[in-house]
Amino acid sequence: MTRATRLSPKEKARIERLLTTLEAHHPNATTELNFGNTFQLLIAVILSAQCTDKRVNMVTEGFFARYPDAEAMARLDELELLSEIKSINFAPTKAKNIYKTIRMLLDLYGGEVPGTREALEALPGVGRKTANVVLATAFDVPALAVDTHVFRVSKRLGMAKAETPEETERQLERLIPREKWSLAHHWLILHGRYTCTARKPMCDRCPLTADCPEYARLTKPSPAAKARPTAKAATKTAGKTPKKKAAQAQ
Ligand code: SF4
Repeated sequence: MTRATRLSPKEKARIERLLTTLEAHHPNATTELNFGNTFQLLIAVILSAQCTDKRVNMVTEGFFARYPDAEAMARLDELELLSEIKSINFAPTKAKNIYKTIRMLLDLYGGEVPGTREALEALPGVGRKTANVVLATAFDVPALAVDTHVFRVSKRLGMAKAETPEETERQLERLIPREKWSLAHHWLILHGRYTCTARKPMCDRCPLTADCPEYARLTKPSPAAKARPTAKAATKTAGKTPKKKAAQAQ
């Protein structure tokens, strides 16, 4: 059981505001991967590691139409699988893993995708993040998958301070009510994908600025700027000096 983090009333209110605002901005948040059944979801999530959902959807559109389930996809050998997904990052490794995963699904589960974390994580190419997405999306199990967007955005928002996705997942689970884990995963992904982007966060159109420590940091005047006299002070000083000098010269 996950213990909730003890927060000061101020911090608790800040986190609640962040979650409420994220929810309001992403009311129908769900995965942007296209799939027609749980098997396709599993394959799409495996393919999406270090690849955009857009690219995965382009590839899977025809691929899933031709091979909609484990039985159909099992007709492909590893090379044929690779040629189907070749435009996706790390295609050779993913083809190898998918090939083995399909055989395990057929041998152990009659071609169905198992609904437990242990069984999912035992499949080749399925790590904790993939298992979490499948559990949350297909089996309604509360799970908070931490991908690159969730990792970055939760750090910028001061919701997690961890150095690894696993620890970030634990910190977020202690902070966010269990019933909101799966949705919060999507909120943070969508916020990271479209607003709080990696290289250049679009703070000017972000609804979270008031509660975002990263925004406060980015907009804080630098010590050099603080030390620089304001235009008014500079004019004042500039006006005084000649007079003083003129008086001394008399
Ligand atoms: S204010 Fe900027 S840094 Fe903070 S969450 Fe929004 S986009 Fe990201």
